[in-house]
Amino acid sequence: MDFSLSPEIEDYRSRIRAFVEQHIIPLEADRANYDEHENIHVDVLEGIREKAKSAGLWALQMPKERGGQGLNVTGLTPCYEEMNRSIFGPVCFNSAAPDDGNMIVLNKISTEAQKERWLQPIIDGKVRSSFAMTEPAPGSGSDPSAMQTSAEKKGDTWVVRGRKWFITGAGEAQHFILIARTSDDTRKGLTAFLFDADQPGWEILRRIPIMGPEEHGGHCEIEFDGLEIPDENRLMEIGDGLKVTQIRLGTARLTHCMRWTGMAKRALEETFDYVREREAFGETLADHEGVQWLLGEAAMQIEIGRLLTMRAAAKLDAGDFARKEVSMAKVVVSETLHKAIDTAIQLRGARGYSKDTPLEWMYRYARQARLVDGSSETHKMVLSRYLLNEGLDFWSWD
Ligand SMILES: Cc1cc2nc3c(=O)[nH]c(=O)nc-3n(C[C@H](O)[C@H](O)[C@H](O)COP(=O)(O)OP(=O)(O)OC[C@H]3O[C@@H](n4cnc5c(N)ncnc54)[C@H](O)[C@@H]3O)c2cc1C
Repeated sequence: MDFSLSPEIEDYRSRIRAFVEQHIIPLEADRANYDEHENIHVDVLEGIREKAKSAGLWALQMPKERGGQGLNVTGLTPCYEEMNRSIFGPVCFNSAAPDDGNMIVLNKISTEAQKERWLQPIIDGKVRSSFAMTEPAPGSGSDPSAMQTSAEKKGDTWVVRGRKWFITGAGEAQHFILIARTSDDTRKGLTAFLFDADQPGWEILRRIPIMGPEEHGGHCEIEFDGLEIPDENRLMEIGDGLKVTQIRLGTARLTHCMRWTGMAKRALEETFDYVREREAFGETLADHEGVQWLLGEAAMQIEIGRLLTMRAAAKLDAGDFARKEVSMAKVVVSETLHKAIDTAIQLRGARGYSKDTPLEWMYRYARQARLVDGSSETHKMVLSRYLLNEGLDFWSWD
């Protein structure tokens, strides 16, 4: 067991830290760089992405031969954490959801021809992508077996009908991964497809207004009314839709954890100067035991989440699905994120509730972390199933 970083990963980590400090934090501090949905303005983004490419910090998760840096999941962990010290960070390095998870799954499972057509432009930053799975009730949500969007085979083409919602990035995405029902089989009833935004037969019904700041392209409700997908744009085999989803979500949930750990650390960082300097009742805030307990608790939870993330990353790198480990990391890190930001707002006093610091942005953003990619409750349901199946072996060492 060795928690030290290899010289190569430490080099990436420290260069990302310096890049974020030098180039991204100053952008984040200037409101002129925000778009109307409170994300980094696309014009500003293009310039900073070019800088990240020149610095050799582009697409860490992708193979070197495709223009990435070829890091494994454990290597990504400290690097993604550094990126999200800024709320603008991950997208500047092409490591933001949903492109990040879409690239990782396409790189793992698609054919060489599909990689060239669908993956390479996302890696190059020429197009954005979306992953379309969730549907309005009574369709697929926490339980994908309720999926209603159907793909019916007509010759060499699949014809899609149905509705999806909360599809991140759909307003600007060019490449879509779609999960649809292809049969009533309970285990093999779903199939994954690729389609291009320019194809007819689908439309965006609305960009759903949300509580927090939005990813580029928003979170959209979309309808399919006869979208035709050639069979060559099917991912894996017919009936492998759930498998594709599990492969995608395993790593995508964990890269969320890496980024959220970075954001939780930044939230605490926002309190450091204030608690050291602000005086109340004859001493600095940092000298009050009540403040020490809040900070100590938050710091400890961040470390717990990070260790769970690293352990799950190591299991994924070893070829394991790491279902238990990813679920534990997802629950702990998403809830820690929320609590750490809440603590930071509390300690900054009234200013923490203002738009003078990024804390209120983070607070509104963080609420989604406990819902997306599986709610805390569904992950705990999965953990409970493992526990009751495995008994004491739930905690077995590798
Ligand atoms: C900002 C944002 C971005 C998103 N991006 C995407 C995207 O890009 N693509 C996509 O396909 N989807 C996306 N989603 C959808 C997200 O993945 C779903 O919201 C999530 O899977 C839950 O589904 P649901 O909303 O239908 O909730 P439901 O399934 O209706 O569940 C509602 C609540 O019921 C409880 N619950 C459910 N099951 C159980 C259980 N077994 N035990 C106990 N309690 C339970 C939980 O508290 C849960 O939060 C996004 C959502 C948000 C908010």
